[in-house]
Amino acid sequence: MLGLASMRSGLEKDQPVKRKQHEIISMYTTPPSEELTLDEFELFALDRLTVLRKLEDLKARGYKGREFTEHLEKAVNTHMKINSLSENVEEAIRKDTVSHFILRLAYCRTEDLRRWFLTQESALFRYRLESLSSTGIISFIQSNGLAFEVVSADDKAARRSRLLTAPGATAAEFERCTFYRIPFAQATDLIGQRLVYLEGGYAYVPVQRVVAIVVARFRAALSRSLAEASGAFPAVTGDPRFGPLLQNMSRQYVGRDFGGGGGGGGDAIRPEHLDAMAARSMPLCMRGLHLALRRDHKLKHMGRLQYGLFLKGAGLSMEDAAAFWQSEFTRVMSVDAFTKGYAYNVRHMYGKEGKRTNYTPYSCLKIIMGAAPGAGEHHGCPYRHFDESHLSALFGQLKLERADRDAMAAHVKGRNYQLACQRHFEATHRGYEDAGVSADGVGNHPNAWTAASMQYWKAKEGGATAAAAATAAAAAQQQQQQEREQQSEGGDGGAPVAAQS
Ligand code: SF4
Repeated sequence: MLGLASMRSGLEKDQPVKRKQHEIISMYTTPPSEELTLDEFELFALDRLTVLRKLEDLKARGYKGREFTEHLEKAVNTHMKINSLSENVEEAIRKDTVSHFILRLAYCRTEDLRRWFLTQESALFRYRLESLSSTGIISFIQSNGLAFEVVSADDKAARRSRLLTAPGATAAEFERCTFYRIPFAQATDLIGQRLVYLEGGYAYVPVQRVVAIVVARFRAALSRSLAEASGAFPAVTGDPRFGPLLQNMSRQYVGRDFGGGGGGGGDAIRPEHLDAMAARSMPLCMRGLHLALRRDHKLKHMGRLQYGLFLKGAGLSMEDAAAFWQSEFTRVMSVDAFTKGYAYNVRHMYGKEGKRTNYTPYSCLKIIMGAAPGAGEHHGCPYRHFDESHLSALFGQLKLERADRDAMAAHVKGRNYQLACQRHFEATHRGYEDAGVSADGVGNHPNAWTAASMQYWKAKEGGATAAAAATAAAAAQQQQQQEREQQSEGGDGGAPVAAQS
């Protein structure tokens, strides 16, 4: 158990209190101080991280309004359960508070991490505040000691016609609406957008619009706290129990790890399916490795690991994997040489040799942050590790629409490699949502990309008849042959060149 002495909690766990909706939203001014198991420490933090990453993903994909709220609500209900006054509300509040402070520590380390955390937490806070009724917002303001001056009934009546000129104000709502008188310096955003009435250096802000000011206060306070926490980071992470976890939190992959396979969209994967899978259901990193293996009949160590674990995650059995690697490698070496030099590695990947570890496939973050491929190597993420000319040639081979290619290139330029990969998926799986396919994890894990793609094609082809699968495989083989020829003509065997970081 961890006693986080520096964290203090106002929660009285032994005395159940009937909560109101506004009371489950926190400004996180008081750190908790309670016993916490290491498992809870990790689980709480990763659950919150999942929600924050989902939020970032929704914004990056351009979701807005109701659609944004619905998707986010689903993630919040699944991982945090902080939206409702359910019977477990006290536990949800505890998890909310503890997970916020753990991530605050994990993300205080660098300017980039602080900015990311600040942005996502402020957006989550806004989403939660906006879910309150006007009465709930007023109660939240009061109970959090936010000293906003309420405009008296007489002052409000005296300014009735001017207050009603603000966008969205209606005469029907006016009498019931609470207005706050707020110094203009705190309401510059609202003033800039002409959303509030301004008089004598004060903005008259109706309760629905005051959320923007509360969020700005929250953001400013959190920003200061992150800067203060960064000074304590080296000391806190010196604790061997949770120091490494805090240091690596920002690099954690929080989705399915595919260690037990199941990344084949529900079907068993056999070696004879791999050409067709590479053509239409593998992200560029794995497709490149497959093509290189089929062309050169060998892969270097990092490539074998990245691709071998991916195939394991996609559901290729160890026996099939051994047969597949042997059939390729023995085109350039003897069976004896393969058995002595490589067969052990295949069994090792499946946890049947050495320490018998069940190795999991690499996530995108691990691939992107990993070592760049050198000459003759093909591992890595093309969006991250190819230089501009190689990437542009690769995009040219993909037969994508111009707008999609341009969007992917723009994402790469902005170093948003995973968004480029998501766009590739969207461009090649039109209408996937209508087909009932979830793209969760696409752009975060190569196996998630493949699993979603396989489900998509299965839905499109009504369960993939043998004829459809055979046609797809033949088309895939033809396309791959062309690509192998194109790469050979390129002179460097299609080897990637590390992009400038
Ligand atoms: S973003 Fe991930 S799945 Fe996509 S190419 Fe890069 S490593 Fe592969």
